[in-house]
Amino acid sequence: MGYAGRVGFLMSPIHRTRFAPSPTGAMHLGHARTHLLAWLRARQLGGRVLMRIEDLDRQRTRAGAEEALLRDHEWLGLEWDEGPVRQSQRTDFYASALSELRDLGLVYACSCTRREVAAVSAPHEDEPVYPGTCRSGPRHPERKTATRFRMPDTSPGFTDIYAGVFEPGRVRGDFIVRRSDELFAYQLAVVVDDAEQGVTEVVRADDLLSSTPRQLALYAALGLTAPSFAHVPLVLGPTGARLAKRDGAMGIATLREAGVTREQLLGRLAFSLGLTASEAPTSLDELLGADLSTIRREPAVIDLPEAAS
Ligand code: GLU
Repeated sequence: MGYAGRVGFLMSPIHRTRFAPSPTGAMHLGHARTHLLAWLRARQLGGRVLMRIEDLDRQRTRAGAEEALLRDHEWLGLEWDEGPVRQSQRTDFYASALSELRDLGLVYACSCTRREVAAVSAPHEDEPVYPGTCRSGPRHPERKTATRFRMPDTSPGFTDIYAGVFEPGRVRGDFIVRRSDELFAYQLAVVVDDAEQGVTEVVRADDLLSSTPRQLALYAALGLTAPSFAHVPLVLGPTGARLAKRDGAMGIATLREAGVTREQLLGRLAFSLGLTASEAPTSLDELLGADLSTIRREPAVIDLPEAAS
């Protein structure tokens, strides 16, 4: 446990947040928008920002993506105070958390494939709910097994800084903390890192809203203090589809190369968050005075700034 985490109960911990990009592709407007908000909140509160590269999945990691992500953050002026640290160099932390969960009897080996889980899951669920097939032993012990965490009967709820109340019990099913290819899963790594790195506030896109109860269950199981959460609506492309890293046109680097200025981009992003009254170009300095207590809750549709269209 890091220093910041350990002293957390003795005094009110200093605000610490993180940028946690996965180096799987280019930084796009959605990441920039979320990280702008995380950065402004940290700066307004006198806090610190940690840069953490979430590179556990080497197969999805793209050559040069990390350098490009760092460069894009720098160009936007979203400077970080610590890091970058890489998850790929922190696997000892994840292994020791997993062995703790094992000692507590809170994980088990699971041989089910993704397809098998999808086939037995109730059709109305948004995402497959694991029915607990391997809870008392792997159904196919001859296969390579993943490791699943036993979700409490009622999963934790929480109150999000922006998204409001997320009721307990909404997320169901035991989830994977270590994959059958032996990679530590995002859910475990993110909890271990945020706790060990003393993160007090997580600002991220709201496609991770339903991951939060899973993470809260892990914090509780490991006896760790959970941060607060602020989930930010996604940015949609002009067609209304969610932005993906392959949407190169919405990439920060592409926009920069097309002549879009940092101030133009900040103006668009801040307006889409509801922080400013117009899309006029603006600077980080000006935005430091913005009221961050509420943001616009609808997913944002951002067109390409003129210079790039
Ligand atoms: N690495 C994740 C992403 O790039 C973010 C995870 C998080 O913020 O918890 O989408």
